[in-house]
Amino acid sequence: MSSALTSSRAGSSALPTRHLPPAVVLPHPEEYYEVRFESIGGLGAHAAGQVLATASVVRMGLNGAHFSSYGSEKKGSLIRSYVRLTAGDRPIRTSAPVERPDVIVVFHAALLRSPATFAGLKADGTLIYNAPAGVVPPELSALPRTARVVRVDATGIAMKQASRPNAVFLGTLCALCPFLDRSSVLDALSEEFAGKHPEAVAANESAFHAGESEFEELRGVGTAQGDLAPMQAEPLWGYDTQPVGGILPTPGNSAWNDLTTSRIGWMPVLDSSKCIHCGVCDLVCPDFCLVWGEADDGGKFERKLNGVDYRYCKGCLRCVESCPTQALAKTAETAGLADKLRVPLFPELIA
Ligand code: SF4
Ligand code: SF4
Repeated sequence: MSSALTSSRAGSSALPTRHLPPAVVLPHPEEYYEVRFESIGGLGAHAAGQVLATASVVRMGLNGAHFSSYGSEKKGSLIRSYVRLTAGDRPIRTSAPVERPDVIVVFHAALLRSPATFAGLKADGTLIYNAPAGVVPPELSALPRTARVVRVDATGIAMKQASRPNAVFLGTLCALCPFLDRSSVLDALSEEFAGKHPEAVAANESAFHAGESEFEELRGVGTAQGDLAPMQAEPLWGYDTQPVGGILPTPGNSAWNDLTTSRIGWMPVLDSSKCIHCGVCDLVCPDFCLVWGEADDGGKFERKLNGVDYRYCKGCLRCVESCPTQALAKTAETAGLADKLRVPLFPELIA
């Protein structure tokens, strides 16, 4: 599914404006300036792209395009939102994905586990990721040595301001890209919400301002030389490339599924000393994350709950709500906690 926005200043002169900045010149006027928002459903990546493109086209005199691609509407499913900008008098492609981005904004740090998240980043590009202070995921070493790497605690700021991470990221983006007129972006952000959620306008503005100032630029993170390769243009096994007879040569993939990105701040943590191994958590868990083993010989139980495989846990917390002994507790997810406590469900396959 996708939606597109494209226009030019000439075509939008009748639209209301509160603020008209001087003409904007992009860093490389002869090229496109491209931003890719990498996210999961529910964090506002599509709205962020829409706001950025609207501000650029309607208020800053650029030509621009925006569209998003997303799969099922399920919470936690992957979303990519693309914004392409150029001078007001240059033509632009409206709905082609951004494969060589100048900026990548990663809404959930767990997305960095997939190389597709930062694929195509230019050597002089910028990667902005969402994490509290002190968290530098090791995957960032795959970035270009010369790229700018920026951390901002978008989730933490958004929670504090009763806003969403997208408002924070837009503020950070404006601080890092001086050609973006911050007042134009802020006006577009406020207008996006003024109709349906007027109560959110002030909170979004506060989150935007915090995003402008509360970020950290990291040095010496990336190690790669030059631009990163873009995402593979063709699926490995597509219409033209699949083996004769439509055989799927790889086994079913529910074991490889990784729902880590679906958790937004909370995870269940087991206190074995309180567990009575009743299995209620297993009954309510929609993703079969609970890992069971043989109980001790001669003990009270036949089967024993060993823990949670967080690879498959989407953080719905139904297990916590259902546990009769409070052996499972709702716990704030800090960096590395899930990896430390994870009990593998298929240790022979994914240790
Ligand atoms: S519901 Fe609670 S007590 Fe029962 S097995 Fe699960 S964690 Fe243990
Ligand atoms: S929070 Fe609990 S019920 Fe929900 S997916 Fe994770 S283990 Fe299963």
